[in-house]
Amino acid sequence: MTEPLISDRPPAAGCGCGAPVKFDGASPAYRRILLSVIAINAAAFLAVAGGAVIQGSAALGANALDFLADSATYAISLWAIGKSVRVRSGAALLKGASLALLAVFILGFAVWRALSGAPPEGAVITSLGMLGFLANGVAALLLVRHRDGDANVRSVWLCTRNDLIESLVVAAAGGLVWLTASRWPDLIAGGVLALVFLQSAWSIIRQSQQELRDAA
Ligand SMILES: [Zn+2]
Repeated sequence: MTEPLISDRPPAAGCGCGAPVKFDGASPAYRRILLSVIAINAAAFLAVAGGAVIQGSAALGANALDFLADSATYAISLWAIGKSVRVRSGAALLKGASLALLAVFILGFAVWRALSGAPPEGAVITSLGMLGFLANGVAALLLVRHRDGDANVRSVWLCTRNDLIESLVVAAAGGLVWLTASRWPDLIAGGVLALVFLQSAWSIIRQSQQELRDAA
């Protein structure tokens, strides 16, 4: 399901946030906006990860992983402005590897939660899903004026927009947990999101290896 490498979209699957983003030439105003978006993603990560741990929710765990990965991606992008291709590709490789590790961890967590412990509270999952929707909504409002920039600027916009949908999926999974009094909607949503991240990680790793080879 890997998308072809076309000029105006990142090659990563899923939320579309996986591709390393390079901001050479970005304006100070855009850098400020990006810093705010990093802060929003980091705060949402803390809230959603807290809920995931307390409730033992796979969907929230996967959602938290996305917020963490996005703040890391944007932070690396800001840091990497003006650095060599080799440094940027190396950072992307490291990020792809850690994303893969975390996705495997979420999958293992979902399997473990299928077998043990009390089912999570659907209302908590839905509330935190809506909180994530709000966080991504604010980020989207900040970014909307810059949505038609170059390929890299555009990928941040697309990724934030896709994460709005992901938050709704998490909120809906919570609703289904509540309706069916079953843990399975949470485990399925978490497992599917983790698989999507695994695929993103795979394409990041492949792309950065290619860039490192080209740079050598
Ligand atoms: Zn994302």
